[in-house]
Amino acid sequence: MSNRENVIIVGSGPAGYTAALYAARANLMPLVIEGATPGGQLTITTDVENYPGFVHGIQGPEMMLIFKEQADRFGARFISGSATDITLNESPFSVTVDEEAVYSANSLIISTGASAKLLGLESETRFMGRGVSACATCDGFFFRDKEVIVVGGGDTAMEEATFLTKFASAVYVIHRRDSLRASKIMQDRAFENPKLHFIWDSVIEEILSEDQMVVSGVKIKHLPTGDTYDKPISGVFIAIGHQPNSELFVDKLTLNEAGYILTSEGTNTNVPGVFACGDVQDWTYRQAVTAAGSGCMAAIDADRYLAEHHEILTPILYTAT
Ligand code: NDP
Repeated sequence: MSNRENVIIVGSGPAGYTAALYAARANLMPLVIEGATPGGQLTITTDVENYPGFVHGIQGPEMMLIFKEQADRFGARFISGSATDITLNESPFSVTVDEEAVYSANSLIISTGASAKLLGLESETRFMGRGVSACATCDGFFFRDKEVIVVGGGDTAMEEATFLTKFASAVYVIHRRDSLRASKIMQDRAFENPKLHFIWDSVIEEILSEDQMVVSGVKIKHLPTGDTYDKPISGVFIAIGHQPNSELFVDKLTLNEAGYILTSEGTNTNVPGVFACGDVQDWTYRQAVTAAGSGCMAAIDADRYLAEHHEILTPILYTAT
């Protein structure tokens, strides 16, 4: 028995849970630090219709529960809490959870994912949770029979806007260009929805509030003319993409300019024994299925690294299932 782990997996979306499944089946008895949102971004989404194997689609949260159960069945262990510090410059590596417990491991798999980007307006932060949201699934219900606006022109914006039409009386999509980035099928679905309206070539300059408590409108700027006008609105949903959750690894791993962890030859980072998978290292595909695939790769890479460099341990906290 050892107080050291073979592999700690930091993060628990499709990448982390798949890494856990493969590492568990390789008898590595992985320990998963699940993070603030166990299951990751899919737990704040609705229908997932493009994950192979689910002919009729599945709800994101349900899919993540299934992923976790499958890894659990083979002996993966889970800790709820967030990694707050990581030491990578000595072996074994160490991970501090919620600034308290410290766990050490011979290898690490990083699958911390990505988070929604915000516009950067002071008013956006001030009214977050009081009319401003980055999650239609979480907050759409509060806007029944009200008018809302969604910022962005990608798949996330179309998905959020379409979902919001279930509650809101009208949904406006404001986009900074005159054509969408979203996939054709999502665009078609949005254009066909009678409750959805588009405001092209425009941005939100300010979020307005009459009582300084909740959102009552937005100031819109039409970019080609520079004209601005106020539009009464009850909810503002920001859907302009994501940024990698890699703050913990600044100056510890090589990141690109946008903060994504750089990997080579599979999922290797620049530190031997540390592997990265999923959205924290993928700025191109960012799909649940590609995240899961890279989680599988990371577990295989970690297994090979451990076989070459370390004896396989039975961690103290491990109970055979
Ligand atoms: P994207 O990067 O694809 O789109 C972001 C959108 O926000 C773009 O239209 C961009 O404008 C706009 N934008 C970015 N920054 C700003 C800003 N500061 N102000 C105003 N607008 C801004 O991100 P998504 O989250 O939509 O999608 C990410 C990936 O996830 C994609 O690969 C997508 O296909 C996938 N996805 C798939 C889904 C599904 O299949 N069910 C659902 C959701 C996402 P511009 O176009 O001008 O750059």
